Amino acid sequence: TRPSPFLEPGLRTSANSLAIVGLSRDNYQPITLELSAGAVDGYAEGATLNTRFGSFPHSTLIDVPWGSQVRASVVDTGSRGRKRRRDDVESESTPMPSHDDTDDKPPAQQALAKAVTASSGFIYLLRPSPELWTSGLPHRTQVVYTPDYSYVLQRIRARPGTRLIEAGAGSGSFTHASARAVYNGYPRSDTDKRGKVFSFEYHQPRFEKMQEETKDHGLNGIVHITHRDVYQDGFLIDGTSPQATAIFLDLPAPWEALHHLSRKKIHKGGKPDDSDGAWESALDPKQSVHICTFSPCIEQVTRTALELRTLGWTDIDMVEISHKRISVMRERVGINYTSERGINATPADVTEAVKKLKSDLKRTHEFHKGHKPDSVSESSDTKMDTDDGASKLEKNGGDDSVAPSEPPLMQGRVVHRTENDLKTHTSYLMFAVLPPEWDEEAEAAALAKWPCGQ
Ligand code: SAM
Repeated sequence: TRPSPFLEPGLRTSANSLAIVGLSRDNYQPITLELSAGAVDGYAEGATLNTRFGSFPHSTLIDVPWGSQVRASVVDTGSRGRKRRRDDVESESTPMPSHDDTDDKPPAQQALAKAVTASSGFIYLLRPSPELWTSGLPHRTQVVYTPDYSYVLQRIRARPGTRLIEAGAGSGSFTHASARAVYNGYPRSDTDKRGKVFSFEYHQPRFEKMQEETKDHGLNGIVHITHRDVYQDGFLIDGTSPQATAIFLDLPAPWEALHHLSRKKIHKGGKPDDSDGAWESALDPKQSVHICTFSPCIEQVTRTALELRTLGWTDIDMVEISHKRISVMRERVGINYTSERGINATPADVTEAVKKLKSDLKRTHEFHKGHKPDSVSESSDTKMDTDDGASKLEKNGGDDSVAPSEPPLMQGRVVHRTENDLKTHTSYLMFAVLPPEWDEEAEAAALAKWPCGQ
């Protein structure tokens, strides 16, 4: 099996492997880099990524260090891309034919025609990570976003070597994050020691797509995807226990699946199942199991909590992640003052602006000095906002002759703003723990380990 670009990406991009194209801060596009025949023999660009920042033949994106900035091709990759452009980006997965009528012209004219530049833009080639995959993945369902899954994974104790059950797989956002969390670098054949994600999905097309992606992303030694209705048929793999210690359920009715995640054969609602027939628990019998269920409404949470309690889960609690991105920046006051006069402001305008700024800051500082309550001491935190302006002035003895270009003044005050809500969909996160069964063997083992009272 070839290495996964998510887990063992190497130092450079490679052909037939995934890369994430960074178009802007919040715009990422996953692409599989293709080295097509056209690109090799030099007659055509081959597969090309067309974006509003220009065209990028895949041949220019292969074997470059991760994180590189790549400039748009100087070759006009044809009007086809422009005609067919949707949104920001369009990925061509098939080699482009040579340009329309250009090839009929004499070589010199062909070269000239090709030298017509498409754009002067650039993109970044980024190493695949679950976070970037979540930002750009093809949505087939609602997905779990990074602020939620990072918290969930640490609460359910997912770590290298963990055997984790996930249902349903949906668009695979959580699957990628959990695969990285449990990956412990063991050789792929060493099945006993390897961390593993057992993922279940009952929707046939989504299951097939997940299978394909798992293979393409080199995750098939770590992610095992099963086509299954887990309410009905539970979580065993070919009749064998996955021996899980961590569980994540992103299902419309998680309480319908919980009786399959018990230590004893049991019916939904907690009634013991005395029917004959082989039965095996999907859980590791020797360790505590941590679960998280992800539900958008409180009625679902209530039903899940009831079922968890009935089935013997403990430490049940609920969390909602309210993630805000806060942009912290310096207000470029000097520049703003300048721009009041337009972009052609003279040095005299700048001097005047800085003078005004200094007197404003001094007034503000005087005001706060006069009104500060005794109990408030000026910590370095509270000073932050004014330090570059007013208190600097005081250190200078209020000297107006400070040069306009003095760095702290020109840098402006530190301000922060809450950015528009992130593109996320969050839910109520329910957590619980199922301790291992306690029996005579466990008692003897515990006494051997901690011989208290002996
Ligand atoms: N966590 C996923 C992600 O991050 O991309 C999204 C999961 S999506 C919200 C819920 C998925 O559960 C759907 O794909 C749905 O087909 C699947 N599902 C619903 N009921 C199921 C069942 N009984 N057994 C297995 N999968 C089920």
